[in-house]
Amino acid sequence: MRDALTAVLRETCGLLVPLVCPCGAEGRLLCADCAALLASTPVRVDAACDALQLVSAARVREGPVGEPVGVDHSSLLPVHALGEYAGSLQDLVLAWKNGGRAHLVPAISRGLAPAVEAVADGDEAMLVPVPSRLSARLRRGEDHTALLAATLSRRTGLPFERLTARTGEGQKGRSARQRRTRHLYPAPRALARTRRDRAPVILVDDVVTTGATLRSCVEGLAGIGVDVKGAVVLAAARMPAPRTIP
Ligand SMILES: [Zn+2]
Repeated sequence: MRDALTAVLRETCGLLVPLVCPCGAEGRLLCADCAALLASTPVRVDAACDALQLVSAARVREGPVGEPVGVDHSSLLPVHALGEYAGSLQDLVLAWKNGGRAHLVPAISRGLAPAVEAVADGDEAMLVPVPSRLSARLRRGEDHTALLAATLSRRTGLPFERLTARTGEGQKGRSARQRRTRHLYPAPRALARTRRDRAPVILVDDVVTTGATLRSCVEGLAGIGVDVKGAVVLAAARMPAPRTIP
C-alpha cells in the first residue's frame, strides 16, 4: 500500500517537477550513481592545496657546499573531501549551490559525516560554515554552507555556529589577492560561546581550490585565539597524486 502510494505520489510530482538528477539522468531527483558518489569514503586533499602548504624542512645534499635538493611540506590543516570537482560531483555541487536542490543536503551530510568525525577525532569541536559572500547569498536566497553545517551538526551531535565574514579591506601590505579573500570574524554571540567553550573549529565549505579561503579563516580565528582542527568540503579542485610505493 505504502509503495503504491509512493509510486502514485512520484508519478504526480513527476508531472509538476521533472524528476531529473543534477547529472541529467531522468526518473529520480538523485540517481543511484550520484547517490553512490555522495556515499564515497572521504579522502584527505590538503596536500594538493597550494595555499595550505607550510615548508617544514629544506633538504640539502651532503658535501662541503650544501646544495638544495628539495623541501618538505606539511599542511596547515587536514582537509577532507568526497572527491574531485569534476563530472557528476561538479554537477551535484552546482545544483546544491545554486539553490532549489535542498533534497541533496541530507545525502551530502551523510557522506561528509565520517570526515567530520575523523577531523574531530573524539574532541568536542564546533562546526563553522565558511560564509558565502553576501551578494551570493542574496542571489540564491539561502546560505548553502550554513544549511549543510546545520545538517551535519544534527547528524554528528557537534555544535554549530554561524560566524560572519567580511572581505579584508584596508589591509596595508597585503596583495590584491589576499585583500579579496574572506576573513572570518565571529558574530558577538558566537564569540562569547567560542571563548567560553574554547572549542576548536571544523570549517565546512563546498569546494576547496588552493585553500586560500580556508587559510584566511584559520588566520582570522587564530586572531581571536580559536584553533581550527580541520575542514570538510564536498569537492576539491585538485586531488593529491596517488602515493607511489618506493
Ligand atoms: Zn545522477
